[in-house]
Amino acid sequence: MNKKIIIAVDGPSGTGKSTICKLIAGNFNLSYIDTGAIYRSVALSALENDISFDDEKKIKKLCIELPLGFSFVDGANHVFIGDRDVSEAIRTPEISMAASTVSSKPVVRSSLLEMQRKLARETTQKGTILDGRDIGTVVFPDADIKIFLTASDEVRAGRRYDELIAKGHKVDFNKVLEETIQRDKQDSQRSIAPLKKADNAVEINTDGLDIAGVYKAVAKLIQS
Ligand code: C5P
Repeated sequence: MNKKIIIAVDGPSGTGKSTICKLIAGNFNLSYIDTGAIYRSVALSALENDISFDDEKKIKKLCIELPLGFSFVDGANHVFIGDRDVSEAIRTPEISMAASTVSSKPVVRSSLLEMQRKLARETTQKGTILDGRDIGTVVFPDADIKIFLTASDEVRAGRRYDELIAKGHKVDFNKVLEETIQRDKQDSQRSIAPLKKADNAVEINTDGLDIAGVYKAVAKLIQS
């Protein structure tokens, strides 16, 4: 059996990770795993079922038993919990912060680690591209290619703001900026699997680049 290629894409929110991963996956015949969607789904499910993020026993059970499903419909990635399509419900500002809080719990990270590795290795494609915060450092420290995307706070918040407005959310730019900074601080400062660049990751600053520019830089790395 041929070894599957693993590409790790990490970085703070709003750096364009998911957009680039989707494009790369489509053009290079790879599966794409949005690991943030997994943490978001855990947060949503815990909140809806009144499970405290500090209740280790219940949170662990939730992580292990959550019937998560992913499918590609009409050019978009959809996330399911059982039969329910939660793709929109997991993208609200409230769930973004809740995902950041729940993902700092060691029991959550350890319960979801093997699931992410298994999903990536079991692809029927040539390999898998995953995006998140700890893919190159913890989930796949031996990934074939590691990329770390960055951008200034204002540019990242601007992208998030546009995305939320396009989806019909009523948001204020300064609030989005504040939440972006707060979430990244929380993600980078947690004690377990913090957001950080792997030593051997290639850093790409996306500030002055459009999607085509970032795609070109990433595709060049893969081809080389
Ligand atoms: O990438 P996304 O913004 O959807 O991730 C939501 C949250 O999930 C992040 O702010 C982070 O706290 C958490 N996350 C994580 N590790 C990953 C992916 C996401 O801790 N690999």
